[in-house]
Amino acid sequence: MDIGFIGLGNMGFRMAARLVEAGHPVVVFDTRPEIVAAAVELGARPASSPRDVADRSETVLASLPSVQASRDVATGPEGVIAGQRVKRYVDLSTIGSTAAQQIQAQLAERGIAMLDSPVSGGVSGATKGTLALMVSGPRDEYDLVQPILAHLGTPFFIDAKPGAGQTMKLVNNLLAATALATTCEVVVMGVKAGLDPSVMIDVINAGSGATNASRDKFPNSILPRTFDYGFATGLMVKDVRLYLEEAAKLGLPIEVAAAVGRLWETVMSEEGSESDFTSAIKPLETAAGVIVDGRPKASEARRAIEQ
Ligand code: NAD
Repeated sequence: MDIGFIGLGNMGFRMAARLVEAGHPVVVFDTRPEIVAAAVELGARPASSPRDVADRSETVLASLPSVQASRDVATGPEGVIAGQRVKRYVDLSTIGSTAAQQIQAQLAERGIAMLDSPVSGGVSGATKGTLALMVSGPRDEYDLVQPILAHLGTPFFIDAKPGAGQTMKLVNNLLAATALATTCEVVVMGVKAGLDPSVMIDVINAGSGATNASRDKFPNSILPRTFDYGFATGLMVKDVRLYLEEAAKLGLPIEVAAAVGRLWETVMSEEGSESDFTSAIKPLETAAGVIVDGRPKASEARRAIEQ
């Protein structure tokens, strides 16, 4: 099946590369020409706009960083909506159910089907093709694109109702945001009390406190102090804000989510929206006057001080 792919960032580039590797003809567009050139090196074909992608492909996928970018790409004047060949549009971005429903309705007026399919599993999941994809929209369209999505990970059909996949994704990400924020807070507390952060993470991972934050984000990006997990703080804040909006619309209590939201707003104001979201530990370290350093030399130095 010929495929268009718009948005070649941390996630999109890797997903598009997998589709090229699987042998699909893939037409790509991104506002950054250098990343389009890198995709062309892998075998993709360049396009000049989202509309150009949609003129040349029946199935168009997109992975974009903001609600506004998703609206512009789908329904802007040079958007997918103006394409001649496109039949279906799959938005892999996290944009919340309201925006997904509005985009779906606008595309439907032009006879273009929309599936919202936000993903979870990070850059490593995008690279390895092990993402969880939360798809909602017409079931027959899902059945058509399921083999394409299967190159990217495990697709889950959430519901025919547009936006249901987005709600599922916001639920998942609020949990991920909470786990990372809480794990940062407790590890900083332990270090302040004199514990070794690497030992703490080993114990947490062997015990009942383990989450993806302790299993993956701490060992790979926080303890080595590389802060390079591949998900921007601004994107985490976007997702938490979208969750808070949707929960508030449903009239639900949001006490824990609101506290988590305040924490992430602090991370964004202190570390910047472009910082990696594993930087969430830094404002907590500053407040506590400690550094959570799990590099071998730091552990050795700690042991020498203790002896
Ligand atoms: P990113 O910022 O790395 O990539 C976004 C890409 O879109 C960039 O290459 C940018 O140049 C391009 N872009 C922006 N506006 C555009 C436009 N109008 N037209 C064409 N291209 C445009 O973001 P990412 O980390 O790849 O995330 C993409 C989406 O996936 C977001 O919705 C995010 O919340 C979600 N997501 C990310 C991760 C992750 O770990 N990074 C995990 C799950 C879900």
